[in-house]
Amino acid sequence: MLKFHNTLSGQLQEFKPLDGNNVRLYICGPTVWSFAHIGNFRTFTFGDVLRRYLKFKGYNLTHVFNLTDVDDRIINEAKAADKTIDEFTAPFIEAFWEDFDALGLERPEITPRATHHIAEMISIIETLLKNGRAYKSNGSIYYRISAFPDYGKLSKINFAGNVSGASGRIDTDKYDKENAQDFALWKLVDADEPTGWDASFGRGRPGWHIECSAMAMKYLSETFDIHAGGVDLKFPHHENEIAQSEGATGKLFAKVWLHSEHLKVEGETMSKSLGNYYTFRDLIAKDYSAVAIRYLLMSVPYHKQLNFTFETLDGAEQTIGRLRDFRKRLQEANLPDGINTDLQGKVGAYLDDFEMAMDDNLNTSIALAALHNLVRETNTAMAHAVACTEDRSVILHAIDKFDQVLGIFGEAKTEMLDAEIENLIEERQAARRNRNFARSDEIRDTLAEQGIILEDTKDGVRWKRK
Ligand code: AMP
Ligand code: ZN
Repeated sequence: MLKFHNTLSGQLQEFKPLDGNNVRLYICGPTVWSFAHIGNFRTFTFGDVLRRYLKFKGYNLTHVFNLTDVDDRIINEAKAADKTIDEFTAPFIEAFWEDFDALGLERPEITPRATHHIAEMISIIETLLKNGRAYKSNGSIYYRISAFPDYGKLSKINFAGNVSGASGRIDTDKYDKENAQDFALWKLVDADEPTGWDASFGRGRPGWHIECSAMAMKYLSETFDIHAGGVDLKFPHHENEIAQSEGATGKLFAKVWLHSEHLKVEGETMSKSLGNYYTFRDLIAKDYSAVAIRYLLMSVPYHKQLNFTFETLDGAEQTIGRLRDFRKRLQEANLPDGINTDLQGKVGAYLDDFEMAMDDNLNTSIALAALHNLVRETNTAMAHAVACTEDRSVILHAIDKFDQVLGIFGEAKTEMLDAEIENLIEERQAARRNRNFARSDEIRDTLAEQGIILEDTKDGVRWKRK
């Protein structure tokens, strides 16, 4: 029986979808102003394990994962680079999906962008203005949290008594607001500011929290099953999403809330602002494999903190090597004919252990231990020549079952696409025409590393894979 620790109830609860066998899931995605770091990817890997396990349990899934492509930082950085926000975010969105795919994260069914859902945000704000849960001040629109008595029900922060401005937090918008805890739904923009949208309540741009309310309710309906994200989003982001959505509809927003703990570095949360971070690309450049990074990120259950060190990443690399090598040996081994029912029974029991661990609020470390037990048992049986031909397919099938969720045995997608190769060849030709031989040599070396051989012919450059 699948159980989750629901932040909203504060309890471990049996999971039952609202609508038969269909599960509707929302996970907050990245802000695309830079490359995502592996702390971000810890949360997204948790999201992938959650997604895969729901499918493993036989549910039909609709999974929404948004991209935040407008906020103050994006607007400022785009301006500094003399670009529109779309031009500024495009390369980061592309890089994000590249990293996402390389980590073996399955693409969610729906991946909406905030800037494509402004009309839906405006409509929620209009409802909140009508029902008195929002107000206008100096051209911006704020949420009136004193009009939503449930405020604090997710984060368990008691706002009673401090709603009227005693937040203690330094807040530059404070003087525009009735109460310091009220938050912006819509921010006034200057007439000459290029990033802005017209609304019945004035031109402006959305606050961050309203994005997720709008995109979640558009694709998953007003009430849906699971909402997840990193633990730092619990307050204020998720608390505010609840206030906006439930304040507008009068209905429960999400039934189950899941929060993944942070990736730490020497006791501190990995973050851009602390500067103690590695992007996925930094680690690939250090010759670590994507699958080892994936393994490391899911090796500790999502609700526990994980400390990043290069020693544990080296360990993950070795473990992945051992696991893959094991499967290959099993596929190729010259086994005696027959069947070992005792071994098959144990393999079945390890699969049960795996499922029991995952059912228990996605305990990935016990689930991985079940896989390692299967490997050890089979290795011992092979060493004693008591693993037989008929056992092979049963064990390989069990590994495939584990891997539906773990995603560590498949081949990493490292091969360059034809289009990428052709673009590079074109760029190399241009570099040669411009006598930029350093660049043309660099491209030749990059292609050689990928096993691409170039041939100069009278019809131009031809290429083939080694
Ligand atoms: P952002 O791109 O800043 O909106 O963050 C994207 C996601 O990464 C959010 O769900 C954050 O909670 C999560 N996140 C940020 N830092 C970490 C970290 N060090 N460990 C795990 N998750 C993180
Ligand atoms: Zn969100």
